[in-house]
Amino acid sequence: MPALILDGIKIARDIRAEVAAEVRTMSAVGIRPGLAVVLVGHNPASEIYVRGKVKACEEVGVYSEKLTPPEAITTTELLKLIEELNRRDEIDGILVQLPLPPQVDSKKVLLAVDPAKDVDGFHPMNVGFLSTQRPGLVPCTPAGVMEILKRSNIPIAGREAVVVGRSDIVGKPAAMLLTNANATVTICHSRTHDLPSVCRRADILVAAIGRSGMITRDFVKPGATVIDVGMNTVTDPAEFQRFFSGTPAGNAKREEAFRKKGSTLIGDVHPEVAEVAGALTPVPGGVGPLTIAMLMFNTVKAAKMRRGSRVGELSRA
Ligand code: NAP
Repeated sequence: MPALILDGIKIARDIRAEVAAEVRTMSAVGIRPGLAVVLVGHNPASEIYVRGKVKACEEVGVYSEKLTPPEAITTTELLKLIEELNRRDEIDGILVQLPLPPQVDSKKVLLAVDPAKDVDGFHPMNVGFLSTQRPGLVPCTPAGVMEILKRSNIPIAGREAVVVGRSDIVGKPAAMLLTNANATVTICHSRTHDLPSVCRRADILVAAIGRSGMITRDFVKPGATVIDVGMNTVTDPAEFQRFFSGTPAGNAKREEAFRKKGSTLIGDVHPEVAEVAGALTPVPGGVGPLTIAMLMFNTVKAAKMRRGSRVGELSRA
């Protein structure tokens, strides 16, 4: 039986609707959550991501402000900008779009963001909160992975979870969240021996690698839930054929789009895995939409955590 396809678009829409309702409640007592997005220079991919984030803010009613310092900005100047945003009360979340230009010390900049406004959840203080199970801000993509699992009623506690990838922004926090949810977690990376057999242990397999279709059917235990975080672009027609020929319905649409655009998105999981897995997130339309939804969630969470007592006071007034 083909895998159940976990609909990230629908789950993201539900989360955004919940966030919008929360924003309306807060606005009724005079508080509007605010997000500042810092976009340095003119990286085309970053511009597209930032546009999506600003649009999402408009949709859920979050105030947003886009700051666009020039490509030549220095670390000191960017630190000053972050300090100003840290001080402004109406800004609850600060997002520094990566990558930053090479002359800027990215680590220093990310460390300067007030942890209470760190809606990306990258600050070491939030990493510590996550690993010690204290309230904090959790990185958006792994938080989205957990929402997909929970809202799709996939059991986590006591299950074997394998996370392939150990980046600070996806793999490690995903593994930590699964551990906190009582899964038995294995983290794999480029030095793992016999990766397919380790992956085959998984009831829940999370692929966050950045390699087109690397996870083939022999990595997957029949019936496992497979979460594909990867987002890779295929432009070579031969590669397209290798991944998508002979796979089930829905591909006619993808082929048509590939012919028109000359590219398509593929995850880290080979499409053939749909024949073995019990449940699978598609690419596109799986984890991707959750990332922005969780950014909106985090902005409202940051507003509540930082201005929480005032929300309470105002609602009692
Ligand atoms: P990353 O920082 O490049 O990390 C990749 C990880 O995969 C590393 O830990 C690396 O191991 C491991 N890896 C690489 N090749 C491997 C191999 N052959 N076997 C086993 N492990 C291997 O990437 P990332 O930022 O975590 O992103 C991963 C993927 O998720 C990318 O496709 C990215 O585009 C996508 N992504 C999607 C979203 C979304 O919104 N859907 C958000 C963020 C990222 P080592 O540590 O040993 O090098």
